[in-house]
Amino acid sequence: MKPLVVITGASSGFGAEIAKLFAADNYPLLLLGRRQAKLAALSANFENAMIDTVDVTNYHQFETAVRKAEAKYGKTDLLVNNAGLMLLGNVQNQDPQEWQTMLNTNVMGVLNGTQIVLNDMRDREHGTILNMSSLAGKKTFVNHAAYVASKFGVHGLSETLREENAPKNVRVMLVAPGAAETELLTHVTSKSALSDYEAWKASMGGLTLDPKHVAATVKFMYDMPQNVNIREVDIAATAQDA
Ligand code: NDP
Repeated sequence: MKPLVVITGASSGFGAEIAKLFAADNYPLLLLGRRQAKLAALSANFENAMIDTVDVTNYHQFETAVRKAEAKYGKTDLLVNNAGLMLLGNVQNQDPQEWQTMLNTNVMGVLNGTQIVLNDMRDREHGTILNMSSLAGKKTFVNHAAYVASKFGVHGLSETLREENAPKNVRVMLVAPGAAETELLTHVTSKSALSDYEAWKASMGGLTLDPKHVAATVKFMYDMPQNVNIREVDIAATAQDA
């Protein structure tokens, strides 16, 4: 049996597409998210998949789910820290609770997942942690201040972890996508920030990234031999100008 792949934020968008690719390649999966029905529908035809309703900001919940899957499928060989959200808004008037939610999910969720699998990977001198950041983790965008803060955080912690764990043969990878068609925008509460974003997408002819290509990238990176680490991939629609 192939080793266990754990994917956070598997209930929609990139995470769901990544899950489909790994399922098609016969990996046993642990699929995490808060929406049980979405996870159940996604995994209905997967041969070896466990699902669990986990909030990645809850360390205990997250760890319990991973240990349960590991008891069945063996230790985690790939963790995709993909769960995240983007609440666009301007610092002048955005509800600070939205900053807190983004930093907790996008940064603390990644740290939580990492610690849950890291020590076993170091002991085995084998394993991969792939963090889903964003182009907003390396350049700025108007109305994205708190999101940018969270994703610059993901970039920073990922490279630090990569350096720390290279001697233990553990790979830490990062993917930084541009604008893509997922459920990401459905949580934005600022009407003006949302309409600015939609206008920007329209200015590119609406030609944003298909999540399938992000999933294929993740699979390609993981499929490299353990002694090869594609550290970071930036991927966006060709038409994206920023
Ligand atoms: P979606 O909204 O489609 O997916 C986000 C996923 O994260 C969902 O499965 C959601 O599941 C999960 N999630 C959110 N909060 C939590 C939480 N607290 N605990 C557990 N799961 C959570 O958007 P995307 O697929 O676009 O987003 C995936 C990642 O890609 C994010 O990190 C995002 O920042 C990043 N990204 C997206 C881009 C885009 O344009 N779409 C561009 C660059 C990066 P549930 O609601 O069931 O909990």
